[in-house]
Amino acid sequence: MSETDNRPVVAFLGLGAMGAEMAGNLNRAGYPLRVWNRSPERSKAFMASASPAAPVNACASPAEAVTGAAVVISMVADDHATREVMLGEAGVVAHAAPGTVIVDSSTNTPAMVRTVAEAAAARGIPYLEAPVSGSILQARGAELVFMVGGDPQALESVRAILERMGRSIHHLGPSGAGATMKLVNNMLSGTMSAALAETVAVAQAAGLDPAQVHTLLTEGAAGSRLTRTKIPKMTGHDFAPQFRLALMEKDLRYFLALAEQLDRPAPIAALVRSQYQAARKASLGDLDVAALFLHVTGGRQS
Ligand code: NAP
Repeated sequence: MSETDNRPVVAFLGLGAMGAEMAGNLNRAGYPLRVWNRSPERSKAFMASASPAAPVNACASPAEAVTGAAVVISMVADDHATREVMLGEAGVVAHAAPGTVIVDSSTNTPAMVRTVAEAAAARGIPYLEAPVSGSILQARGAELVFMVGGDPQALESVRAILERMGRSIHHLGPSGAGATMKLVNNMLSGTMSAALAETVAVAQAAGLDPAQVHTLLTEGAAGSRLTRTKIPKMTGHDFAPQFRLALMEKDLRYFLALAEQLDRPAPIAALVRSQYQAARKASLGDLDVAALFLHVTGGRQS
């Protein structure tokens, strides 16, 4: 018996920018996959590039995908998508067998993941929220960081699978704790990206050399993966999406809702969210977060 014969069947739902990379790593690691994506084109593209290391079946619905799967991983856009995929008529909670473990890596609100966790628990299905930090390159390189909320025993049962997609796995607490950590993280990265757009726009208008701006901001106190990767995208006008601007706006909106529930002021998040909102309304939502630079510099109007 080969090593891969013991791998559990994984249903993978959502083959967008992140999901396709994560599912690809499981496929190459020998996990049999049952994949589903709302638009079938993405399933077709995934099937066309899949490795023969393990079987992959394209399915017509979440219900079909979870049939015979021991683990379900979901990587869809937001609360709305998660409600449909998890709680819809052809959704995971209604159709997965009791004992199936759900790992939801979408960035959702803590309220949403608690709702799904309760519905799943009523059918004997453990539900872990496991949103990630890291973008497409980290997903491709299996270097994601998982922020997990839910039953720690359920996490242990799927740890080996998460290790094929990420470099570290953190259990934050009960349902909602992982989602909360992710929103806190993205409030900071969204704000830094907005500040970078403004900083680079002024540096450019002042005639500074873009390469030196990149080097010095990356070596300075605020230097980070964001300065390293987003400044060249801004100055090089490369707005191919790694993380869509509309998704970052969603994360800031979810952070603001959380701050409101907790009765904490969040004026910076409110201001930054309004910048992303205006950029989305100027038709920049499907471009990378770095396209906030276009909005700041008036480079593209609606
Ligand atoms: P994406 O490329 O836009 O893909 C979104 C996925 O969600 C697609 O599979 C899409 O299906 C599906 N979807 C959207 N609405 C749906 C609905 N109503 N019902 C069912 N499926 C629906 O997004 P992504 O970049 O992969 O991001 C996925 C999640 O990871 C998001 O929650 C995002 O915030 C989070 N995230 C992203 C990054 C990043 O750098 N990209 C990093 C960390 C976390 P279709 O193909 O049919 O549209």
